[in-house]
Amino acid sequence: MGIFGITGNERGDLASITYYGLYALQHRGQESAGIAVNDDGVFSVHKDTGLVGDVFTSEVLARLGEGNMAIGHTRYGTLGTRGIVNAEPIVVNHIKGRLALATEGALVNAGPLRKELELGGMIFHTSSDAEIISCVIIQERLKAPSIEAAVSAAMSRLKGGYTVLLMSPSKMVVARDPHGIHSVCFGRRADGRYVVASESCALDAVGAVLERELLPGEIIVFKNGEVTSLRDHCDSVPERLCIFEYIYTARPDSMISGCSVQTARRRAGALLAMAHPVEADVVVGVPDSGLDAALGYSEQSGIPYGIGLIKNKYIGRTFISPGQNNREDKVRIKLNPVSSAVKGKRVVLVDDSIVRGTTSARIVRLLRNAGATEVHLRSSAPKFLNPCYYGTDIDSREMLIACKYSTEEIAKIVGADSLGFLLLEDVRKIAEDAGVKGFCTACFDGEYPTDAPVKYTSKYDNKISESEKEQ
Ligand code: SF4
Repeated sequence: MGIFGITGNERGDLASITYYGLYALQHRGQESAGIAVNDDGVFSVHKDTGLVGDVFTSEVLARLGEGNMAIGHTRYGTLGTRGIVNAEPIVVNHIKGRLALATEGALVNAGPLRKELELGGMIFHTSSDAEIISCVIIQERLKAPSIEAAVSAAMSRLKGGYTVLLMSPSKMVVARDPHGIHSVCFGRRADGRYVVASESCALDAVGAVLERELLPGEIIVFKNGEVTSLRDHCDSVPERLCIFEYIYTARPDSMISGCSVQTARRRAGALLAMAHPVEADVVVGVPDSGLDAALGYSEQSGIPYGIGLIKNKYIGRTFISPGQNNREDKVRIKLNPVSSAVKGKRVVLVDDSIVRGTTSARIVRLLRNAGATEVHLRSSAPKFLNPCYYGTDIDSREMLIACKYSTEEIAKIVGADSLGFLLLEDVRKIAEDAGVKGFCTACFDGEYPTDAPVKYTSKYDNKISESEKEQ
């Protein structure tokens, strides 16, 4: 998921700037997109399923009108959270005012919180964590003197890896979970407006200069051109930035915690070449997130780099698309091999990760059909052995191929001549220059920063019970 926000003293066409920001964050989610504009307390919102460019036409942006603040969101649907009903930003009216809210990540205590809220009479319209977060903040707002105090109180009740970006009538507030699992940064434009985004590439897209990332647990309040930092939750728990941001999630032109994503990927490729060398004629990366790792592998091994796969840029990322059939259909039309680059050659194929193995098998087959004599698959992530609890779509263990098979067996299943994964002991080295105290690597090593999620199914998610039928 991607979040973007902009605020300043002057009114302006902030919907359009938010649109550009979301465009730059499209890779973080393609299920739905939304923008809410705040014009001195009057909120306008538009959201729908689809890509940013499909959801927002120039007419829609014009209808959103001018304002002095705006926030936007791109979403990808993990199970149970798809569809327009779960699109963000959420706009809610409450007894002390109004807020629009967009979130990133996932709560591990969404179940117990929702149950507690429902028992207190709250009615939910969505299955998203964002609605739970908005309810908790509103509950706290009834007791708190300000929206930022309410956010701080809410953070004491929220557990997981999340970022919350919200607008009250007069403030924009952004909060990062105390572990700092997901990155979020802010910058400033020449016109003085402040911009908040999941990744620095979105600041670049709207002409903002990166000021800094939020600290884990930090709350930043933007009001009338002033910036205030609240640090009640900072240093309360160990920092654990998601290492997978560097491997896959973020764009290579982003900086996360002072470390270039592109550099991290090249480093991963070089470490992979040292751990799993092979004799070959060409190194080919799977676009997009495997390309830099392939370059790193090539530089380290001395095997020439080649462009052996061309991506159709106009369809979504396979990993993000919900639904297995949909995912497989997309692989077929998404990648095409360059025969002249691979025909008669021993190919090292570098991909960012291997989740279920179905995509890898198809790509290996594509290269063989294009004339590759050998295909040696290398993954610039270690083996996925655990699901992600914090909003990245990494499946349950039953769906992860590395949970069921050895490396040799996986190589056979995907049709590769050999297979090598980035070593677990190397994964933190890829972002060794990041200014962080620790990383989350839980999907690889099971060392979760938080407790596991507690499941709770609303009875309306199930068939109506016999006793209810009688009422
Ligand atoms: S479990 Fe994996 S994907 Fe999820 S936050 Fe941790 S490192 Fe990132």
